[in-house]
Amino acid sequence: MNKKNFIITIDGPASSGKTTVARIISQKLNFLLLESGNLYRAVTYLWLEFQNKFLENLDNLKKFFEQEIKIELLPSGTNIYWKDKLLKDELRSKEVEEKVSEISAIKEIRNFLTEFMRSFINRNNLVAEGRDMGNVVFPEADLKIFLTAREEIRAKRRYKQIIGKEKRKNLYKEVLENIKVRDRLDSEREIAPLIIPEGAYVIDTSYLTPEEVVEKILQKIRQR
Ligand code: C5P
Repeated sequence: MNKKNFIITIDGPASSGKTTVARIISQKLNFLLLESGNLYRAVTYLWLEFQNKFLENLDNLKKFFEQEIKIELLPSGTNIYWKDKLLKDELRSKEVEEKVSEISAIKEIRNFLTEFMRSFINRNNLVAEGRDMGNVVFPEADLKIFLTAREEIRAKRRYKQIIGKEKRKNLYKEVLENIKVRDRLDSEREIAPLIIPEGAYVIDTSYLTPEEVVEKILQKIRQR
């Protein structure tokens, strides 16, 4: 890996606080923020749109990304455009949420997105957030963080995010179930499972505010 810039990786299970914390840090430090989950969500969205498996073919997937997808990395996040349309709510739909872990376990898709994400390494200093950033995508990162939190607390956080937008019976139960299933699929898959990267600084965010988590990470950075 030809690494010139400062890379911070933040991994962890769903709703452990990664996105919020990563965004505060990237904005404070003016680093670009790579939200890898958005890439997996975008591929899942496209898969559902096309209702076929052509994205499983590596050549097709590459061509499709080159021709139709534009990725914008900013300190505020990772924007994904399909034919100049910003994909936003589409990436957070119930359908995508239920399918994304299954799609993310497909070898061809992981290999492609891993290489694709590595190509960002020389662009700028980076905060990379996801499931396998410190372990697989950027093993030479300067600082590796692993966030975790109790399952019910993560489900409550997710529930609070979507309760205003979605009103279904048993929404909390549904969210908790989705988190459990995604955790299991993400941790048990053969390729790039969710694990604590070697040398990572582990923070349990269950009873911490995002600012408290950020402060712990900034302290680590200052110690370097
Ligand atoms: O982080 P986020 O919840 O947006 O990620 C959505 C899903 O994408 C995860 O549940 C996981 O299945 C997949 N993912 C992954 N590897 C990453 C980032 C996300 O497999 N680096």
